[in-house]
Amino acid sequence: HTTLLSTYDYPPRVVQFPTRDGKQVYTSEIFAQNVFSLRTLSNALPKPVYEQFVKQMRGRQVMDKNTADSVAHAVRVWAMDRGATHFTHWFQPQTESTAEKHDSFLSLKSTLGDGWEEHVPMDAFSGSQLIQSEPDASSFPSGGMRTTFEARGYTVWDTTSPMFLQSGPHGTMILYIPSIFISYNGEALDEKTVLLRSAEALSKAAVELLNVIGNDSSTVNHVYTTLGIEQEFFLVDRGLYVLRPDLKITGRTLIGAVPPKHQQMEDHYFGRMPSRAMATISEAELELLKLGVPVKTRHNEVAPAQFEMAPIFEDAALAVDHNLLTMEVLSKVAHRHKLKVLFHEKPFNGVNGSGKHCNWSMSTNLGENLLEPTATPESNTKFLLCLVAVLNAVYIHGDLLRAGIASASNDHRLGANEAPPGIISVFLGTHLTDVLDAIAENRPIIRSSIPHVEHIKVGGTTLDVKISTMPEISRDLTDRNRTSPFAFTGNKFEFRAVGSKQSPSFPVTVLNAAVASSIREITAALRKQQGDKLSLTEDDKMSVIKEYIIKTKNIRFEGDNYSDAWVKEAESRGLPNIKKSLDAFTKLLEPVHAGMLTQNGIFTESELHSRYHILLEKYTKDILIEASTLRSIIMTKVLPAAYEFRKSLAEGIKALNDIGAAAPEENVLEQTAPAVRNLQAQIALLADNIAKVSAIRDAKDAARAVQEELLPVMEDVRVSADFMEELVDDKIWPLPKYSELLFT
Ligand code: ADP
Ligand code: MG
Repeated sequence: HTTLLSTYDYPPRVVQFPTRDGKQVYTSEIFAQNVFSLRTLSNALPKPVYEQFVKQMRGRQVMDKNTADSVAHAVRVWAMDRGATHFTHWFQPQTESTAEKHDSFLSLKSTLGDGWEEHVPMDAFSGSQLIQSEPDASSFPSGGMRTTFEARGYTVWDTTSPMFLQSGPHGTMILYIPSIFISYNGEALDEKTVLLRSAEALSKAAVELLNVIGNDSSTVNHVYTTLGIEQEFFLVDRGLYVLRPDLKITGRTLIGAVPPKHQQMEDHYFGRMPSRAMATISEAELELLKLGVPVKTRHNEVAPAQFEMAPIFEDAALAVDHNLLTMEVLSKVAHRHKLKVLFHEKPFNGVNGSGKHCNWSMSTNLGENLLEPTATPESNTKFLLCLVAVLNAVYIHGDLLRAGIASASNDHRLGANEAPPGIISVFLGTHLTDVLDAIAENRPIIRSSIPHVEHIKVGGTTLDVKISTMPEISRDLTDRNRTSPFAFTGNKFEFRAVGSKQSPSFPVTVLNAAVASSIREITAALRKQQGDKLSLTEDDKMSVIKEYIIKTKNIRFEGDNYSDAWVKEAESRGLPNIKKSLDAFTKLLEPVHAGMLTQNGIFTESELHSRYHILLEKYTKDILIEASTLRSIIMTKVLPAAYEFRKSLAEGIKALNDIGAAAPEENVLEQTAPAVRNLQAQIALLADNIAKVSAIRDAKDAARAVQEELLPVMEDVRVSADFMEELVDDKIWPLPKYSELLFT
């Protein structure tokens, strides 16, 4: 392709790292340069006003007018000094992306001059503008919660997430105000409101548990959920990307034969990054650092052209904001490098898909990680109680976690032999498994299960690599299992089944909620165990721990999650294997999960129904759009290419026959005939089914029909088209192939 040639020669764009006095500045100096931090605010405000602000923020209280006006003034001056012309509430509707609506700081002040009203231009930003805004919300998904006549929606500043500046047009800046998005009646219309509620519920439950087991409530008064989000993605050449309507419209290739070489050599993973990818990722990192996103890790992933970025973990709500920013900045920067980022879970058939691994833990306001096993987890009852609380949460609400990660696009990944399957189980590693089993069976721990234990360090053991020049290497007390959807990795859980494209908010919300509820159940069990006694003994705690180890045993699995043996075993254990999104969505409304979510105040009944509807509708629309796109590509690109190819073959054959020469091309001509006929028939069927499905009114019926009547036909079309791709002359084939997309 000609575009391919043009981008092959494209010299990588180089962005200079910021310097001072000719010397490169330290990364830590760049960090949060464009963030209106608490420290900046405290420098800008009189002390009593600042203290009032912090008090209201921490207590999640309504902000008084004076404080709000002062903060607004301070942030406007700060922002305008840095070139800002506009501000925007920045929020997260249920669309997988963020939303913004810009307003300028300009206002017209009316005064009376000579008995006539005059308008004097000035810059202003009031407390009420800072706190609340009213975008016309009627075009955001609401799952039927709002009718058009009460389409009001409000965005409200989330004071816990700091404001920041991003570039606007012609060198200006825009002030971003992280916000929640609620309806006229105060119901959540977004991803963030429910996440904040779930974090609050978890904090309350965990603090109570800590109090019951004897923690000092005057010092530990908050428990954060910590979240570190690993983001996987593909980078492809933009010149090739624009030639693929399927990639442009649906984010994935709907057809395309797997090339002879893809990932089987395993030579891409952790290899040296191609220079254009490196230039893109490091420029994105630079912008993200300025935005206060603590980007830390970058590396090649398993598939060719696949990469990963990961930040240092933060408080969950902030980590989610930062993940969404990461995706946006990466897309923007890639454009400058003539690349396109693909966040889809499965852009290429037969090649590894992408995930968004959510590393999750709980940490007190004093910074103690409650899932830190320490050197002696077997006697660390605080750790064990928190651990069994998570196990119990997954045991009871595994289906809900599955619902949290369900989408049309993640269906292509989950259950395929590369990603965690539709069965939710927990991996703990040999050592912790031994610890838990030993407690359950009243037996000593078999320490020999860890090889080479010499001296135990806090949180890990020392490995002997038998090379004298190597330093001592410490090893986590847990090993790794990359096939598990929910794995304990040292001092946190890694929820690996989350989709690369989706907002991490909903999966983390349901996880927080399930754990909060489970902690409350365990706290109640401890109280019962305590009875009339003044406090709990270690034995009391152990007996509750033991009860929950035994109860939740079925959810633990240490083996290969991709194997058929596990599918069978899970079935015999009674663990559900939910392969398709539709079956996962319905779990949201099951009493055990819906009841938990409403009783813990995470969702109201109508918010939950609304979410269910939005998920269903999105699923249906996603697949309908894919089906229509596929049909159009086949009709307007693939079939015409096949016809042209056949025509040139026929002409060649005729010419050869005319001079009496043999024409083995006839074989190819014959081979393509049934393939063309197949494609024509499949496309006709697809068109019929698209029409049929589009006419269905009921959301659930429509989603079911889409799953049953479009997906299988699309699969058949793909087989025929890919067969054709391997026959037709490369010069005629109208779409860039996998080998070009993945190896440019
Ligand atoms: P992996 O080996 O799983 O690829 P990475 O280093 O890529 O690990 O990512 C691990 C992620 O887990 C990082 O984002 C890191 O900050 C995060 N993390 C570490 N400790 C915690 C914790 N206590 N809570 C939440 N996330 C954590
Ligand atoms: Mg990683």
